[in-house]
Amino acid sequence: MIIWVDCDEVLCSTLVELVKLPEFCWVDWKSFYSYSPPKAPGFSMSDDDQFLMYKKLLTSDNFWNIKPVKWAFEMIKKIKEAWHELVVVTWRASFVAERTKKWIEKYYPNLFSDFLFAETHTDNQKTKAELCEEKGIEFFIEDDPYFASNLSEKGIPCALLAYPWNDSFDLKKHSNVHRIKSWDEFDMSLLS
Ligand SMILES: [Mg+2]
Repeated sequence: MIIWVDCDEVLCSTLVELVKLPEFCWVDWKSFYSYSPPKAPGFSMSDDDQFLMYKKLLTSDNFWNIKPVKWAFEMIKKIKEAWHELVVVTWRASFVAERTKKWIEKYYPNLFSDFLFAETHTDNQKTKAELCEEKGIEFFIEDDPYFASNLSEKGIPCALLAYPWNDSFDLKKHSNVHRIKSWDEFDMSLLS
């Protein structure tokens, strides 16, 4: 099976570093009820400004302070050992492609066969759905409720990693989406 694994908040705890930027005033990342655009009680930012903030973080030295998501490595390794193909799919653009690959190889060495960049906010922008179709993705692991509903409606099953911003995801409406509290709750039978 070819499995898409999202990058931010699924492999990398990016938001923890992002909120350290002065523009975010150290808003508690756990209080974000919307990820994109970012919204927390008493705090909101536009999509465009969010992109600029990501750009600021991802091109700075603080990029290397980003930590992996707990239990992700152990579970990704287990999935790989079960002979599945793993692909990183991210909204990120080519200006951070090299350092993104370097970071992934540091924390998830030899586990991913490909890296797909959706190039959001650039002229080469592709939707994640387009990338998914091009690559023949059969299962995906995400935190974004938008992609979870969008792709599950196309018949692609999903494991949705639980975060406050996908708290109200309608699981009844999307029966092929399985919300998991953390990576170590990932059920391997979903891939059979
Ligand atoms: Mg994400």
